[in-house]
Amino acid sequence: MPQKFKKLMAEKLVSCQHCQPRDAKTKKKSTWVYGSPIQFSDFISELGIPKEFHDSIYNEACCPNCGRRLDEFTMVGEKSKSEMRMEKLIQERIYSINNTIYPELNKFCQYLERYPFLGAYHKTGQQIITDLQKIKTITIKDEIWFRGREPEGVKMFYLKDLLPPPPDEVRINERRYNHAGQSHFYLSSTKNTCFKEINCDSFFCWIEQFHIIKLPNIIDLRVVNSDKDKVNYPLLAAGIMHEELLNIPIDRKREGNWNPEYLLSRYIADSCQVNGINGILYSSTKDYDDNLVIFDYSAEACEYEPIGKPFRFEYGEN
Ligand SMILES: [Zn+2]
Repeated sequence: MPQKFKKLMAEKLVSCQHCQPRDAKTKKKSTWVYGSPIQFSDFISELGIPKEFHDSIYNEACCPNCGRRLDEFTMVGEKSKSEMRMEKLIQERIYSINNTIYPELNKFCQYLERYPFLGAYHKTGQQIITDLQKIKTITIKDEIWFRGREPEGVKMFYLKDLLPPPPDEVRINERRYNHAGQSHFYLSSTKNTCFKEINCDSFFCWIEQFHIIKLPNIIDLRVVNSDKDKVNYPLLAAGIMHEELLNIPIDRKREGNWNPEYLLSRYIADSCQVNGINGILYSSTKDYDDNLVIFDYSAEACEYEPIGKPFRFEYGEN
Protein backbone atom coordinates (compact mmCIF):
# COMPACT_ATOMS: atom_id res chain seq x y z
CA MET A 1 0.00 0.00 0.00
CA PRO A 2 1.47 3.43 -0.90
CA GLN A 3 2.79 5.51 1.99
CA LYS A 4 0.48 8.43 1.23
CA PHE A 5 -2.60 6.26 1.95
CA LYS A 6 -1.09 5.01 5.19
CA LYS A 7 -0.51 8.63 6.19
CA LEU A 8 -4.06 9.63 5.26
CA MET A 9 -5.47 6.83 7.41
CA ALA A 10 -3.16 7.59 10.32
CA GLU A 11 -4.30 11.22 10.35
CA LYS A 12 -7.99 10.40 10.75
CA LEU A 13 -8.28 6.99 12.41
CA VAL A 14 -8.44 7.07 16.22
CA SER A 15 -10.10 3.92 17.53
CA CYS A 16 -12.21 0.85 16.80
CA GLN A 17 -15.33 -0.74 18.28
CA HIS A 18 -13.23 -2.69 20.80
CA CYS A 19 -11.69 0.46 22.30
CA GLN A 20 -14.93 1.99 23.56
CA PRO A 21 -15.30 1.75 27.34
CA ARG A 22 -17.81 -0.67 28.82
CA ASP A 23 -19.10 -1.47 32.25
CA ALA A 24 -17.03 -4.21 33.92
CA LYS A 25 -20.09 -5.92 35.38
CA THR A 26 -22.86 -5.57 32.81
CA LYS A 27 -20.51 -5.46 29.81
CA LYS A 28 -22.81 -2.76 28.55
CA LYS A 29 -21.03 -0.61 25.96
CA SER A 30 -21.10 3.14 26.21
CA THR A 31 -22.14 5.33 23.39
CA TRP A 32 -19.17 5.89 21.10
CA VAL A 33 -16.47 7.83 22.99
CA TYR A 34 -13.32 7.97 20.86
CA GLY A 35 -13.94 9.54 17.43
CA SER A 36 -17.15 9.30 15.37
CA PRO A 37 -18.22 5.75 14.37
CA ILE A 38 -18.03 4.62 10.74
CA GLN A 39 -17.63 1.20 9.10
CA PHE A 40 -14.01 0.63 8.09
CA SER A 41 -14.85 0.01 4.40
CA ASP A 42 -16.74 3.33 4.24
CA PHE A 43 -13.89 5.05 6.07
CA ILE A 44 -11.28 4.10 3.47
CA SER A 45 -13.64 4.83 0.55
CA GLU A 46 -14.31 8.31 1.93
CA LEU A 47 -10.58 8.94 2.14
CA GLY A 48 -10.53 8.40 -1.62
CA ILE A 49 -8.29 5.33 -1.50
CA PRO A 50 -8.79 3.45 -4.82
CA LYS A 51 -10.55 0.03 -4.70
CA GLU A 52 -7.47 -1.85 -5.89
CA PHE A 53 -5.75 -1.14 -2.56
CA HIS A 54 -8.64 -2.11 -0.30
CA ASP A 55 -7.73 -5.81 0.02
CA SER A 56 -4.15 -5.05 0.97
CA ILE A 57 -5.46 -2.59 3.59
CA TYR A 58 -7.76 -5.24 5.11
CA ASN A 59 -4.76 -7.58 5.25
CA GLU A 60 -2.60 -5.31 7.33
CA ALA A 61 -4.70 -2.58 9.01
CA CYS A 62 -4.73 -2.41 12.81
CA CYS A 63 -6.48 -0.11 15.26
CA PRO A 64 -4.02 2.66 16.26
CA ASN A 65 -5.36 2.57 19.81
CA CYS A 66 -5.74 -1.11 20.79
CA GLY A 67 -3.83 -2.82 17.98
CA ARG A 68 -6.66 -5.18 16.96
CA ARG A 69 -6.93 -6.15 13.28
CA LEU A 70 -9.54 -4.28 11.27
CA ASP A 71 -11.62 -5.92 8.53
CA GLU A 72 -14.08 -4.24 6.21
CA PHE A 73 -17.00 -4.68 8.63
CA THR A 74 -15.23 -3.40 11.78
CA MET A 75 -16.65 -0.15 13.11
CA VAL A 76 -13.88 2.40 13.58
CA GLY A 77 -13.73 5.86 15.14
CA GLU A 78 -12.60 8.76 12.95
CA LYS A 79 -11.75 12.33 13.88
CA SER A 80 -14.42 14.89 13.17
CA LYS A 81 -13.73 18.01 11.09
CA SER A 82 -13.63 20.20 14.19
CA GLU A 83 -11.17 17.80 15.83
CA MET A 84 -8.95 17.95 12.76
CA ARG A 85 -9.06 21.75 12.82
CA MET A 86 -8.18 21.89 16.51
CA GLU A 87 -5.36 19.43 16.03
CA LYS A 88 -3.90 21.53 13.25
CA LEU A 89 -3.99 24.56 15.52
CA ILE A 90 -2.20 22.69 18.30
CA GLN A 91 0.36 21.32 15.85
CA GLU A 92 1.09 24.84 14.63
CA ARG A 93 1.56 25.98 18.20
CA ILE A 94 3.83 23.07 19.00
CA TYR A 95 5.83 23.77 15.87
CA SER A 96 6.41 27.39 16.80
CA ILE A 97 7.19 26.44 20.38
CA ASN A 98 9.70 23.81 19.30
CA ASN A 99 11.64 26.36 17.35
CA THR A 100 11.76 29.12 19.89
CA ILE A 101 10.68 28.52 23.43
CA TYR A 102 10.76 24.77 23.80
CA PRO A 103 14.55 24.29 24.11
CA GLU A 104 14.66 26.97 26.80
CA LEU A 105 11.80 25.39 28.74
CA ASN A 106 13.38 21.99 28.43
CA LYS A 107 16.60 23.26 30.03
CA PHE A 108 14.58 24.89 32.81
CA CYS A 109 12.79 21.58 33.41
CA GLN A 110 16.07 19.75 33.76
CA TYR A 111 17.11 22.36 36.31
CA LEU A 112 13.80 21.86 38.19
CA GLU A 113 14.39 18.11 38.21
CA ARG A 114 17.61 18.76 40.16
CA TYR A 115 16.38 21.66 42.31
CA PRO A 116 12.55 21.52 42.45
CA PHE A 117 12.32 24.31 45.06
CA LEU A 118 14.74 26.76 43.44
CA GLY A 119 13.12 27.61 40.11
CA ALA A 120 13.12 31.32 40.93
CA TYR A 121 16.94 31.29 40.90
CA HIS A 122 16.97 30.34 37.22
CA LYS A 123 16.65 33.05 34.56
CA THR A 124 13.73 31.29 32.83
CA GLY A 125 12.03 30.91 36.21
CA GLN A 126 12.53 34.63 36.82
CA GLN A 127 11.10 35.48 33.39
CA ILE A 128 7.99 33.40 34.15
CA ILE A 129 7.45 35.40 37.34
CA THR A 130 7.99 38.71 35.51
CA ASP A 131 5.46 37.65 32.85
CA LEU A 132 2.91 36.72 35.51
CA GLN A 133 3.31 40.14 37.10
CA LYS A 134 2.40 41.75 33.78
CA ILE A 135 -0.24 39.46 32.30
CA LYS A 136 -3.83 40.72 32.31
CA THR A 137 -6.22 38.76 34.49
CA ILE A 138 -9.88 38.14 33.72
CA THR A 139 -12.97 37.58 35.85
CA ILE A 140 -15.18 34.59 35.12
CA LYS A 141 -18.80 35.57 35.72
CA ASP A 142 -21.99 33.58 35.61
CA GLU A 143 -20.66 30.46 33.87
CA ILE A 144 -21.45 26.76 34.21
CA TRP A 145 -18.56 24.35 34.86
CA PHE A 146 -18.39 20.64 35.69
CA ARG A 147 -16.37 18.42 37.98
CA GLY A 148 -16.24 14.67 37.39
CA ARG A 149 -15.07 11.59 39.28
CA GLU A 150 -14.46 8.01 38.31
CA PRO A 151 -17.10 5.66 39.78
CA GLU A 152 -16.13 3.40 42.68
CA GLY A 153 -18.18 0.25 42.18
CA VAL A 154 -21.79 0.74 43.22
CA LYS A 155 -21.02 3.65 45.55
CA MET A 156 -23.49 6.54 45.26
CA PHE A 157 -21.78 9.92 45.07
CA TYR A 158 -23.11 12.85 47.05
CA LEU A 159 -22.32 16.53 46.79
CA LYS A 160 -19.48 16.29 49.33
CA ASP A 161 -17.77 13.76 47.03
CA LEU A 162 -17.76 16.19 44.11
CA LEU A 163 -16.61 19.27 45.99
CA PRO A 164 -12.84 19.84 46.03
CA PRO A 165 -11.25 17.16 48.28
CA PRO A 166 -10.62 18.15 51.94
CA PRO A 167 -6.84 17.69 52.42
CA ASP A 168 -7.20 16.72 56.08
CA GLU A 169 -9.47 13.77 55.22
CA VAL A 170 -8.39 12.60 51.78
CA ARG A 171 -5.00 11.66 50.39
CA ILE A 172 -4.29 14.13 47.56
CA ASN A 173 -1.67 13.14 45.02
CA GLU A 174 0.33 15.69 43.09
CA ARG A 175 -1.27 16.72 39.85
CA ARG A 176 -0.64 19.17 37.08
CA TYR A 177 -1.11 22.27 39.24
CA ASN A 178 -0.93 21.06 42.83
CA HIS A 179 1.70 19.57 45.11
CA ALA A 180 0.77 16.48 47.12
CA GLY A 181 -1.60 17.44 49.93
CA GLN A 182 -2.83 20.66 48.27
CA SER A 183 -6.47 20.78 47.27
CA HIS A 184 -7.32 22.69 44.11
CA PHE A 185 -10.62 22.81 42.26
CA TYR A 186 -10.27 21.25 38.77
CA LEU A 187 -13.21 21.85 36.42
CA SER A 188 -14.10 21.33 32.76
CA SER A 189 -16.38 23.41 30.55
CA THR A 190 -18.36 20.41 29.20
CA LYS A 191 -19.46 17.05 30.60
CA ASN A 192 -17.75 15.20 27.76
CA THR A 193 -14.41 16.87 28.51
CA CYS A 194 -14.89 16.01 32.19
CA PHE A 195 -15.33 12.36 31.24
CA LYS A 196 -12.21 12.29 29.09
CA GLU A 197 -10.10 14.16 31.65
CA ILE A 198 -10.86 11.53 34.27
CA ASN A 199 -9.50 8.87 31.93
CA CYS A 200 -11.64 6.22 33.55
CA ASP A 201 -12.19 2.64 32.39
CA SER A 202 -15.88 2.76 33.09
CA PHE A 203 -18.53 3.76 30.56
CA PHE A 204 -19.88 6.42 32.90
CA CYS A 205 -18.61 8.86 35.51
CA TRP A 206 -20.13 10.98 38.29
CA ILE A 207 -20.54 14.65 37.54
CA GLU A 208 -21.61 17.72 39.45
CA GLN A 209 -22.55 20.98 37.84
CA PHE A 210 -21.33 24.26 39.32
CA HIS A 211 -22.45 27.80 38.72
CA ILE A 212 -19.47 30.12 38.99
CA ILE A 213 -21.01 33.38 40.03
CA LYS A 214 -17.84 35.43 40.25
CA LEU A 215 -14.23 34.34 40.03
CA PRO A 216 -11.65 37.14 39.63
CA ASN A 217 -7.88 36.97 39.07
CA ILE A 218 -7.80 34.23 36.43
CA ILE A 219 -5.37 34.03 33.50
CA ASP A 220 -6.45 32.69 30.13
CA LEU A 221 -3.83 30.50 28.46
CA ARG A 222 -6.10 28.52 26.12
CA VAL A 223 -4.77 27.47 22.74
CA VAL A 224 -7.66 29.19 20.99
CA ASN A 225 -7.44 32.30 23.10
CA SER A 226 -7.68 35.12 20.59
CA ASP A 227 -6.12 37.51 23.06
CA LYS A 228 -2.60 38.68 22.35
CA ASP A 229 -1.31 37.30 25.64
CA LYS A 230 -0.09 34.06 24.14
CA VAL A 231 2.03 36.09 21.77
CA ASN A 232 3.24 38.42 24.50
CA TYR A 233 3.89 35.67 27.00
CA PRO A 234 5.01 32.63 25.01
CA LEU A 235 6.85 31.11 28.00
CA LEU A 236 3.57 30.85 29.91
CA ALA A 237 1.52 29.63 26.95
CA ALA A 238 4.15 27.04 26.07
CA GLY A 239 4.77 26.11 29.69
CA ILE A 240 1.14 25.13 30.10
CA MET A 241 1.41 22.78 27.13
CA HIS A 242 4.90 21.64 27.98
CA GLU A 243 3.84 18.40 29.65
CA GLU A 244 2.67 17.09 26.27
CA LEU A 245 5.87 18.12 24.53
CA LEU A 246 8.25 16.87 27.15
CA ASN A 247 9.53 13.46 26.21
CA ILE A 248 11.51 12.72 29.33
CA PRO A 249 14.47 10.51 28.35
CA ILE A 250 14.65 7.09 29.99
CA ASP A 251 17.71 8.01 32.06
CA ARG A 252 15.72 10.78 33.77
CA LYS A 253 12.70 8.59 34.58
CA ARG A 254 12.25 7.06 38.02
CA GLU A 255 9.90 4.60 39.64
CA GLY A 256 7.25 5.68 42.11
CA ASN A 257 6.11 9.21 42.87
CA TRP A 258 8.53 11.06 40.63
CA ASN A 259 6.49 13.06 38.06
CA PRO A 260 8.92 15.44 36.33
CA GLU A 261 6.29 16.24 33.69
CA TYR A 262 4.44 18.26 36.36
CA LEU A 263 7.41 20.27 37.67
CA LEU A 264 7.03 23.15 35.24
CA SER A 265 3.23 23.44 35.48
CA ARG A 266 3.48 23.36 39.28
CA TYR A 267 6.20 26.01 39.21
CA ILE A 268 3.86 28.17 37.13
CA ALA A 269 1.01 27.47 39.57
CA ASP A 270 3.14 28.53 42.56
CA SER A 271 4.32 31.64 40.75
CA CYS A 272 0.71 32.52 39.92
CA GLN A 273 -0.37 32.25 43.53
CA VAL A 274 2.45 34.29 44.96
CA ASN A 275 1.43 37.03 42.48
CA GLY A 276 -2.25 37.02 43.39
CA ILE A 277 -3.46 34.97 40.41
CA ASN A 278 -6.12 32.51 41.53
CA GLY A 279 -6.49 30.14 38.59
CA ILE A 280 -5.70 29.19 35.04
CA LEU A 281 -8.04 28.67 32.11
CA TYR A 282 -6.36 26.16 29.76
CA SER A 283 -7.20 23.92 26.83
CA SER A 284 -7.83 20.25 27.50
CA THR A 285 -5.34 17.98 25.79
CA LYS A 286 -7.70 15.02 26.00
CA ASP A 287 -10.71 16.65 24.42
CA TYR A 288 -11.51 19.86 22.56
CA ASP A 289 -12.94 22.08 25.27
CA ASP A 290 -11.62 24.02 28.22
CA ASN A 291 -10.35 23.26 31.69
CA LEU A 292 -10.10 25.51 34.71
CA VAL A 293 -8.04 25.13 37.86
CA ILE A 294 -8.91 27.30 40.85
CA PHE A 295 -6.20 27.49 43.50
CA ASP A 296 -8.17 29.12 46.31
CA TYR A 297 -11.86 28.20 46.24
CA SER A 298 -12.73 29.71 49.62
CA ALA A 299 -15.79 31.98 49.71
CA GLU A 300 -13.63 35.12 49.79
CA ALA A 301 -11.77 34.18 46.61
CA CYS A 302 -14.44 32.43 44.57
CA GLU A 303 -18.18 32.79 44.54
CA TYR A 304 -19.81 29.58 43.32
CA GLU A 305 -22.73 27.26 43.99
CA PRO A 306 -23.46 23.64 43.11
CA ILE A 307 -26.53 23.05 40.95
CA GLY A 308 -28.57 20.04 42.04
CA LYS A 309 -27.09 16.69 43.01
CA PRO A 310 -24.25 14.72 41.37
CA PHE A 311 -25.45 12.51 38.52
CA ARG A 312 -24.19 9.57 36.48
CA PHE A 313 -23.08 10.64 33.04
CA GLU A 314 -22.40 8.51 29.96
CA TYR A 315 -20.13 10.02 27.35
CA GLY A 316 -22.07 11.68 24.53
CA GLU A 317 -25.26 12.21 26.56
CA ASN A 318 -26.62 15.72 26.64
ZN1 LIG B 1 -9.28 -0.47 18.95
